[in-house]
Amino acid sequence: MRTQSAERFRPTGLLLALVLPLWAGSCSNSDPGRSSPPNLVLIVVDTLRADHLSSYGHTRETSPALDAIAREGVRFEACRSTSSWTMPSVASLITGLPPSTHGAENFQRLLPQEATTLAEVLGGAGYRTAGVVSHTLVGERYGYDQGYGHFSEDEALGSRHISTPGVTERSAEWLRANAGVEKPFFLFAHYFDPHSDYLPHKDFDWAPEQGLGRVRPGMAFETLRMHIDELNDEELDYLTSVYDEEIRLTDRGIGELMELLEEMGVADNTLVVITADHGEEFLDHGWWGHVVALYDEVVRVPLVLRGPGVQPGLVVDQAVSNLSLMPTLLELLDLKPPVGMPAPSLAPLLRGDDFDPGPSFFEVEVDLRKGARGARLQGVVRGNQKLIRDSKTGVLQLFDLSQDPLEKTDLSQIQPESVAELLSLLDDYLSHSKAARLEVQDMELSGDERSELEDLGYIGGDEDQPDDKSKQPSKVK
Ligand SMILES: [Zn+2]
Repeated sequence: MRTQSAERFRPTGLLLALVLPLWAGSCSNSDPGRSSPPNLVLIVVDTLRADHLSSYGHTRETSPALDAIAREGVRFEACRSTSSWTMPSVASLITGLPPSTHGAENFQRLLPQEATTLAEVLGGAGYRTAGVVSHTLVGERYGYDQGYGHFSEDEALGSRHISTPGVTERSAEWLRANAGVEKPFFLFAHYFDPHSDYLPHKDFDWAPEQGLGRVRPGMAFETLRMHIDELNDEELDYLTSVYDEEIRLTDRGIGELMELLEEMGVADNTLVVITADHGEEFLDHGWWGHVVALYDEVVRVPLVLRGPGVQPGLVVDQAVSNLSLMPTLLELLDLKPPVGMPAPSLAPLLRGDDFDPGPSFFEVEVDLRKGARGARLQGVVRGNQKLIRDSKTGVLQLFDLSQDPLEKTDLSQIQPESVAELLSLLDDYLSHSKAARLEVQDMELSGDERSELEDLGYIGGDEDQPDDKSKQPSKVK
């Protein structure tokens, strides 16, 4: 992981203005046979743990469309997100900055205007840009709309709304109106259905529609958590089955978008990327959901790419971070990256070249409701070693992922040298990330917003945020 000084780390408006498409100038491009710059479709599926996809070894066929893209391109076996929940992770995906730098780490922090987003870079390089998102956490309210020519959060209607068909259709509408029209295009599509509430879909038959035992479809997260110590194996299997149906539904939407690209004749010149912001725990380590842990069920995410610059049929086993996504995409599109992104481009790995992407880091700092389990955790993966540090308790955990992929056996007491080395890497990462921190922009949650986040199991009521009692409610989509 290369690091940079705080001063060099900060993207600025001036720097953005200097981002010119290399393919438009004399120093273009690495592929002389390419006649026009590639389009980009970036698909982020919320709450999608890698091991529930067929191509990542799941026993159910949850992901035929994603698997096909993986076969035609490159699949990263061991990609990890920068954090364990939506806001910090998506912010890292679209800025190339760690959570400690961009600062969008809790529900009252905006993505700073100072950050340079992927959409801003591509828009500045002449791309038509669109974002279609399905949750307000990555919407305009939180600053995630920066740089798009078109931005829709019409499908951000809450956790009980099935949004996949709408996200697909709104994306398709924009593609039909914009793809193949002079300029290259960039579409960011954010799918949300695998996130709780888990809702069964009658087109698939992995889970009974009426529920099973004490578990009912669409049960609120907090209600489910009340049964966390009581669930039997059948009830737990029901929940993961419904989760799988949500994944399968989302995959169908992805497949429809891919078919549209083919129909429009733009598939061959479109770089397609699919990843997730984080995974989901189903009692793997005694908890449910995400946010409050950094085990692999929560931070190991899919990453597949297909298109120009990507060698078909590769599977990369090396551990990588999707903090590398933005520098990777900009290299593939022959665009200069903004100054300050600390992670390396993975383009050499996409070409099949030998390359060491360095360690992967992840962090979370957030408080949850009712003292349940706030989290101040950081972690690092180097090769097969993974270290997690709990900053609140000082507890360290070390795992050998080659022998113990489920992270059940803590080796920290018997391998102190490895702990020291990984801690040094982690502290160096955090030190540089925090030194480069962008100016924090706070926001005030409305009453409706607080209610929505409570429904999602993210935050508490008055217990943990007493200052918010006086805030005026406002309308939320
Ligand atoms: Zn999320």
